[in-house]
Amino acid sequence: METLKSYISGAWVAGTGKMATLVNPTTEEPVAQASTEGLDLGAAVAFARAEGGTALRALTFAQRGELIRAMSRTIHANRDALIELAIKNGGNTRSDAKFDIDGASGTLAAYADLGKELGDQRFLLDGEGVQLGRSPRFFGQHVSVPRHGVAVHVNAFNFPAWGLGEKAACALLAGVPVIVKPATSTALVAVRIVELIVAANILPRGALSLVTGSPGDLLTHLGGQDMLAFTGSSDTGAAIRLMGNIARGSVRVNVEADSLNGAILGPDAAQGSETYNLFLKDVVRDMTQKAGQKCTAIRRVFVPRDRLAEVRDDLVERLRDMKVGDPALEGVIVGPVATAQQLRDVRAGIERLAAEARIVLGGLGPFEKVGGLPDKGYFVPPTLLVNEAPEGARAVHEHEVFGPVSTVLPYDGTPALVSAVEKGGGGLVSSVYSDDRAFVADMVFGIAPFHGRLMLGSEKIADQTPGPGTVLPQLVHGGPGRAGGGEELGGLRGLAFYMQRTALQGARPMLDALLGVKR
Ligand code: NAP
Repeated sequence: METLKSYISGAWVAGTGKMATLVNPTTEEPVAQASTEGLDLGAAVAFARAEGGTALRALTFAQRGELIRAMSRTIHANRDALIELAIKNGGNTRSDAKFDIDGASGTLAAYADLGKELGDQRFLLDGEGVQLGRSPRFFGQHVSVPRHGVAVHVNAFNFPAWGLGEKAACALLAGVPVIVKPATSTALVAVRIVELIVAANILPRGALSLVTGSPGDLLTHLGGQDMLAFTGSSDTGAAIRLMGNIARGSVRVNVEADSLNGAILGPDAAQGSETYNLFLKDVVRDMTQKAGQKCTAIRRVFVPRDRLAEVRDDLVERLRDMKVGDPALEGVIVGPVATAQQLRDVRAGIERLAAEARIVLGGLGPFEKVGGLPDKGYFVPPTLLVNEAPEGARAVHEHEVFGPVSTVLPYDGTPALVSAVEKGGGGLVSSVYSDDRAFVADMVFGIAPFHGRLMLGSEKIADQTPGPGTVLPQLVHGGPGRAGGGEELGGLRGLAFYMQRTALQGARPMLDALLGVKR
């Protein structure tokens, strides 16, 4: 069996001792193994800071952008081979795999363009300068400069390519070296991407490192100039924040965690309208794409009480046709969830939701599977629940079931709807489907404080929107509360995490000369 290596301190090295086994979730066959035991991760952090950081800071934004563009092109050029790995190790259908891999190359390309726009600078002016004294000579100006640390990127299992690409794009463009640690269970795609980037000799030494396997003592080596961007469960996010060196050293931490994203059908969106069809399309896509293993997937579907039966029937009709099975086969829409543990968690989660709601499709019983081996694979059929009395429900607002599972909830009036959405405790994204501006305004100003992003679905954009589940490089990704309190991407905003904003105060001619400002 292949032993996956880490790429640290400028070399490929394999760990020793007890190995974690990566499997094919369709067949349960082992596909590779990995360990970080015996690796000197402290030296890896020091090497990345010294070699990678120094080299990247010497480059302009435009030059860093070109490196990022080459990364994007390398991933795109190897798309087919990466898709095969995503099918094998992630249980992705071809379409799921493209979503992840094209998400990586697309986000890198968007940041390459941003680098070109920023041009020949090495730092950013932050806002307008300001007169501080009696005369205009005493002046203040904020600047953002690359921090001198390393960015450690700990990623979740569901997006091995996109998770790597979207985080690396922001850090590298800011001038900060990256150590990426993919989730072990689906690491094959991320390892291959780093192999390709290293083989193509795109980046300066130390700019990109890879830790394959458990994080070991990696995070204990971080200090005050370093950054940790984590994506995964709320529990792991909370544990990381409490680490002594992270808290004491004020290591910058960004957490992207769980989310009970809502889809809200407005009372005006009549059956058969474009807005209603968009709503159905988005719910069905989010439940089935990547077998529902998207942090942005719709988990709660809010509908006017008098439309409950209609929406339930329309969703069931569409979801019933979604074939579950071997993701390599044409026509299969829902592949397996990624691991045996995921399967156990999803099944336990369905049970928990079903204690307060009724399963109207799917669930824990037998279901038809296309292809694959009998009694093998971590499959869950699309499962729709209806909670007719959600007022006292807790699980649906508190427990993210990370699989093809959603619950439909009726609402009575906008104030009750706003408080029901809020019960999710903070989310990455929710979507509102309505062409009624007054309703949309009530929703936006009611629920925006609880979300990082709101998708306003209406007939005017029905033919263009990729839906709430697609994270776009131009817009922020992250959310308050349960979602981790983090923020990534958002164009230029995504660089702020990796840069230090410093206020300079002094003589204006001195500042202008220093910063190359012509006024
Ligand atoms: P997880 O168990 O928390 O693991 C996430 C990552 O953290 C993995 O790389 C894991 O490494 C690592 N890790 C585990 N324990 C650690 C520790 N003590 N110190 C440092 N790193 C540690 O989460 P998951 O099950 O992979 O991911 C599913 C969750 O991620 C879902 O809840 C989902 O909502 C969330 N998610 C959020 C977003 C977002 O953008 N907000 C995106 C995707 C997923 P190993 O694999 O080696 O254990």
